[in-house]
Amino acid sequence: MELEGKVALVTGASRGIGRAIAVELARAGAEVAVNFAASEDAAREVASEIEALGRKAYLVKFDVAEPEGVAQGVKEVEETFGRIDILVNNAGITRDGLLVRMKEEDWERVLSVNLKGAFLVTKAVIPGMMKRRWGRIINVSSVVAFSGNPGQSNYAASKAGLVGFSRSLALEVARRGITVNVVAPGFIETDMTAALPEKAREALLSQVPMGRAGTPEEVAHAVVFLASDKASYITGTVLHVNGGLW
Ligand code: NAP
Repeated sequence: MELEGKVALVTGASRGIGRAIAVELARAGAEVAVNFAASEDAAREVASEIEALGRKAYLVKFDVAEPEGVAQGVKEVEETFGRIDILVNNAGITRDGLLVRMKEEDWERVLSVNLKGAFLVTKAVIPGMMKRRWGRIINVSSVVAFSGNPGQSNYAASKAGLVGFSRSLALEVARRGITVNVVAPGFIETDMTAALPEKAREALLSQVPMGRAGTPEEVAHAVVFLASDKASYITGTVLHVNGGLW
């Protein structure tokens, strides 16, 4: 198996895309630390699914935007599994609204979770990767980082920020055997998109050349590829998973 012996940490792995990523990494052979912020029962189910695949799972609760929690959580995972080889910064939220009506706190929270969260977790995890001279960091952005979307200026800014962050970090650590890449999903069936009004869902779906939403597993397969040795010469890039939307 391609990820046998590797240890992964997936943020926001209790639901949706993060959950699929955690399970598919385990299916590929990795032991997986399942991070969540609120949905403990859902996270437990993910851990059971991973264990049913014959892999070890470890539940780790922290808010990616809180530096102390992140440091403590990463320490726990490293103590439990001995190291972290693969980091998937997946945790993300939306607080949509047109800019003229957007509250500063909606801007702050989205940027804190989606962008600062990736910075904090990466900063905590990367020293171990540098020491071992092997690592895979995959940041989950979005098609709206490239296309823009009315009502999502905060979200699109955070997701575009992840691309610049990833490109720069890729250059910093390229000689240490660490790759840093981005996966940019399009319209994927999860709680996040289920929360959209039916009209908005239909309008979005009508723009997808493949004529359907993607599944969380279809995003997870791209992440597993980037985490594997097959992607050893790929760094600083963006892999779009969007049915042709961008
Ligand atoms: P989702 O169904 O809403 O799940 C979000 C996950 O993130 C949950 O597991 C949640 O855990 C976790 N999370 C939220 N805030 C957190 C925090 N502060 N700290 C730690 N974990 C936190 O979302 P999704 O659709 O799977 O999205 C996953 C990622 O893909 C996000 O970054 C999103 O922006 C991106 N994305 C999604 C789509 C799409 O169409 N669905 C498209 C492009 C990009 P708790 O419930 O435990 O808080």
